[in-house]
Amino acid sequence: MSVIDSALAQVKLLQPYTPGKPVEELERELGISNAIKLASNENPLGFSDTVKIAIKQASQKIELYPDANAYYLKQKLAKRLGIQSDQLTVGNGSNDVLDLIARTFLERGTEAIYSEFAFLVYALVVQASGATARIAKAMPLDHAQPYGHDLAAMLELINERTRVIFIANPNNPTGTWLSGTELKRFIDQVPTQVAIVIDEAYFEYVEENDYPSALHWLDDYPNLVVTRTFSKIYGLAGLRIGYAISSNPVCDLLNRVRQPFNANSLALAAAVSSMDDEDFLQRSRANNIRGLKQLGDYFTSKNIRYIPSVANFLTVNFGKRSDEIYQSLLRQGLIVRPLANYNMPEFLRITIGTEQQLQVLLEKLEPLL
Ligand SMILES: *Cc1c(COP(=O)(O)O)cnc(C)c1O
Repeated sequence: MSVIDSALAQVKLLQPYTPGKPVEELERELGISNAIKLASNENPLGFSDTVKIAIKQASQKIELYPDANAYYLKQKLAKRLGIQSDQLTVGNGSNDVLDLIARTFLERGTEAIYSEFAFLVYALVVQASGATARIAKAMPLDHAQPYGHDLAAMLELINERTRVIFIANPNNPTGTWLSGTELKRFIDQVPTQVAIVIDEAYFEYVEENDYPSALHWLDDYPNLVVTRTFSKIYGLAGLRIGYAISSNPVCDLLNRVRQPFNANSLALAAAVSSMDDEDFLQRSRANNIRGLKQLGDYFTSKNIRYIPSVANFLTVNFGKRSDEIYQSLLRQGLIVRPLANYNMPEFLRITIGTEQQLQVLLEKLEPLL
């Protein structure tokens, strides 16, 4: 017998998460210094100058534990979002919050539902909890939301063992989204004892008129949990900070499972100050709209199909040549995201970069197509 035999079966079955290749790693391997990473949906404009000042100030006090209750962040978010601060759960990134949800509601013998091609972290946290994953078939590729969530298929998987349903709106890695009408109709049909998680990591990027925030429905549905993050448009991915908004009783449970100092003091200070720089957010949104069009127009002109996206990335179908194209770009100092681990081996996910970064990408792609 070895100590490995003592590990939980569900842990031994976990597939490790494959992150985007770090820029430094590629630069080290190639001996270059100007690699471009368009692989992890990070903000190509960086982060706000306002945040730089706040971090510098907060760094004078790192001998102190952070505020375990995230008072200032919760106050500010509550005011912005029109909710109460006792509805907020702060996490070490929103991935942490997703894990708190799993640890609060899931164990062996229970079930969680998510869609095929949904964000991989749902699979990870469900598996680690010992619960059974019920994976709903996604929309077909010829649907208006190719590989998007099929809410009817998800509803069909609900039974007396269902505890949590994970929905990403918009979804990563597809960039597909659900309208307010269809999402509300879905929520109406889910039994009240099932937690419905609406992951809005890309909320601030979406421009569609009928794109809803599930926040509006919190008062009517105590089983709703909305998650958001500072990793994407706010550009704070390296600091790890995100949060959940829910009814107060659910928030209370999540906070019992939460480690008291899961969000560090620099991250808290950065998150608070990041909300003050509306100009940075505007520029980020404008760059994203422009970049989505730049890439969309290019691939349309080349007759290469992609999944229409409302987020800050475009998922493109390169068919059988996808891995070859990925490797070739890599050798030229450009990192995009292969999606084999999402069961989408023919696709590459490209984060919307600056105009210049995308120009470089398209110049290197051109001879490969
Ligand atoms: C990036 C992403 C997150 C956010 O992860 P963090 O832990 O907050 O950095 C959450 N959900 C989805 C769907 C994402 O793509």
